[in-house]
Order: sequence, then structure tokens, then C-alpha cells
Amino acid sequence: MPAIQINTGGLCHLEGNMIMEAVDAFDQAVGLENIDVIFIENVGNLVCPVDFDLGENLSIMILSVPEGDDKPIKYPGIFQHAGAQLLNKVDVAPAFDFDMDRYTKTLDDLNPQAPRFAVSARKGEGMDAWCDWLIGQIEQARA
Ligand SMILES: [Zn+2]
Repeated sequence: MPAIQINTGGLCHLEGNMIMEAVDAFDQAVGLENIDVIFIENVGNLVCPVDFDLGENLSIMILSVPEGDDKPIKYPGIFQHAGAQLLNKVDVAPAFDFDMDRYTKTLDDLNPQAPRFAVSARKGEGMDAWCDWLIGQIEQARA
């Protein structure tokens, strides 16, 4: 799978012109007609990315269990903005005292309509449901 690194040059977020340059680079490298999906991994800042439209079809918030169940409370904007919520590393939740009820209740308040997926990329748990949903979104966007 081709990948292009976007250097933010010290910025704490990506901007649309950076994505435009990356899309041009994809076009030169493999031709856009040969690409079905472009995933944009934004930087780890949980505040700024909400304020910059990158032209994406869908925004997905990925939280890892070790980051803590308090992140939706501390950074509500990005959780409200997300079209889907992915919680990764659920296999290690007991070791991190991750309070699933607190996390779920906060998301119920912030963004009840966004689909949620609890996965473990390491163990494969929950990946079938996540991938099925993502494939459905891609097919819907094509139609
Ligand atoms: Zn920023």
C-alpha cells in the first residue's frame, strides 16, 4: 500500500493544502484512478484537527485504552466531530483501569449517533465488525 509522509514542519495539525500536495504526490506515484481510499492520519493533538477541514469524507477518532477513559471529557470537540469512534487496545483495559462505563457514558452525551467499535489490533478482537462497517462506508461513498 503506497504511503506518503506529510511533514507538518512543527505545526500541531494538518491543513488542507498539505493534503492537496499529498494527493498530487499519490497521483504522480500510482495514479489517482488506482486508489480507492486515502487514509489521513492526523497528528496526535486532540484539539486543533477539529478546526481544519481536510476535505475528508469521514473523520474517525481512534483512542487507545492506555490514553485513558478521561480523554472524551478533556477533549470533547474531537469526539463530537467524529463520524465514528474506534477504541483500540481493549485487550489491555484491565491493566490500565480503563473505565468502560465512564467512556461509554461520556460518548453517549457527546456523540450518541456515531458508531463505536472496540478493537484490539494486536489480537484481532472486534476487527471484523470494524472492517465490515468501513467497507460499507466506502461502498456508500462510491454509490
Ligand atoms: Zn494546531
